[in-house]
Amino acid sequence: MKVQSYAGGAWQVGEGGGTALVDPAFGREIARVSSAGIDFGAALTFARTSGSPALQAMTYADRALLLGRIAEVLAAHRDDYFAIALENSGSPSVDASIDIDGAIFTLKHFAKIGAPLGASRYLLDGGMLRLGKDESFQAQHLWRPCRGVAVLINAYNFPAWGLWAKAAPALLSGVPVLAKPATATCWLAQRMVEDVIKADVLPPGALSIVCGDAGALLDALGPEDLLSFTGSAKTARLLRSHVNVLRNSLRVNVEADSLNSALLGPDSVVGSAEFDLFVKEVVREMTVKAGQKCTAIRRILVPSGQADAVAEALTARLARVVVGDPRETGVWMGPLVNAAQRDDALQGIERLKREAEVIYDGGPDFAPLGGDPNRGAFVAPTLLRCERPLQAQRVHDVEVFGPVATLMPYGAFDEALALARRGQGSLVASVFSADENLLARAAVELADSHGRVLVVNPTVGGTHTGHGNVMPMCLHGGPGRAGGGEELGGLRSLAFYHRRAAIQGPVSVLDALARHAAPLTL
Ligand code: NAP
Repeated sequence: MKVQSYAGGAWQVGEGGGTALVDPAFGREIARVSSAGIDFGAALTFARTSGSPALQAMTYADRALLLGRIAEVLAAHRDDYFAIALENSGSPSVDASIDIDGAIFTLKHFAKIGAPLGASRYLLDGGMLRLGKDESFQAQHLWRPCRGVAVLINAYNFPAWGLWAKAAPALLSGVPVLAKPATATCWLAQRMVEDVIKADVLPPGALSIVCGDAGALLDALGPEDLLSFTGSAKTARLLRSHVNVLRNSLRVNVEADSLNSALLGPDSVVGSAEFDLFVKEVVREMTVKAGQKCTAIRRILVPSGQADAVAEALTARLARVVVGDPRETGVWMGPLVNAAQRDDALQGIERLKREAEVIYDGGPDFAPLGGDPNRGAFVAPTLLRCERPLQAQRVHDVEVFGPVATLMPYGAFDEALALARRGQGSLVASVFSADENLLARAAVELADSHGRVLVVNPTVGGTHTGHGNVMPMCLHGGPGRAGGGEELGGLRSLAFYHRRAAIQGPVSVLDALARHAAPLTL
């Protein structure tokens, strides 16, 4: 099978042998993909000239309805997507659900919050501003949808959610989408797009997908287009410094890698409810999607007096994690996406070992249940301990994209906050404590260096949404190392797909503009 692209309003098969997609539990080829020969310029022109005008002729409410219909189409094919996630990503159903059901949930959420925007075609920004001596001449800022194409380049770990979490606010804004999923797992994204195209939900040109190498895609971008990227900091640097991106001052959003931390409060001792919640969450974050989550906990910050107890509790839970081929009964954690990612993770562990000691890695007898132990991309959950994290460098800098985290003891709580900030800007930090003053102080202290801060006390032990879960109503992104981007956050996400302009003129004209604007001030 060769995974096709949908560009210029037609299905296209890339030329040549292309790249192999594999079943990561066995390392065997399941499909091939190539983008060679696809005319990126023509694909973008078609989206700009057909997709954009058709979408922008609609109102926000019309487009919100389309998102709801996309969610229905995807829900109808959910079982097929789980099968692809199993085969191409090695995902147990819990992991596949985070990606696939997460995508459907996000689309439904945007359909819901988009509907009340009603029959308007633009949004207001603040109120009227008096400019002259009297009130006759004033200014009003407004947000107008961009006319270009949103080019969405995504990472391999969320082929479904990664696509729709970006596409939902773009389409709601009236901006056509050209998706470029990561090659390794593009099959799922491609299949979802295929189902939506077949269902004839969207106008021609509103949704395209290019599977395989990005090739000269960036060269074809024009000044009205938008680039939203998720992936490694290394690729982000390449994209940001691309000559065409610089020449056109393209708007770029980057979600990159992140050394997220979880902090256990100084008041939390072994046996307390928050201690148990903390341990449970760390193990969940290390093992869900085999740690291939940009938001996963990489650094575990605990009071030095509790470090041994936390290490013991984590080790005991990790020892119960069954790793293997998700088709086998009882397997909790699957493989990484392919052998290259496995080797990358193992090398990363070696780098961390220069500053930290391994305290759990499944031992010398570690063996996956089922799958191919040699060609399969299995990595045992690995817990390290760094005794002097303030003096260390790598543990705050090397993102091992797998089931790997490092335990770090701290002295005073301010030291823990300083260690969290050593991640150089992260997507998320979580703080577990029964002390509400401490939780509130930590949230404010961490808010400038983190896109999201989760604070947990025992009252929300059974209701919080988790350290790693990205909720569509909350901001996703982080400063510095995490890419400096902002995604989601409900209707806040529309700002990226709109342009703001100041309109200066007679009050009567501005009044009329305001009356026809959507009932929302971004
Ligand atoms: P990656 O290697 O940086 O690739 C990301 C995307 O960029 C892929 O679609 C890739 O295409 C494409 N790409 C690579 N080189 C390109 C170029 N020169 N021009 C245009 N596109 C190019 O990242 P990954 O290995 O897929 O994902 C893992 C990383 O993503 C981790 O570091 C993780 O932390 C990060 N991540 C961040 C978030 C977040 O929201 N902050 C979410 C998930 C993952 P090909 O696949 O064809 O090379």
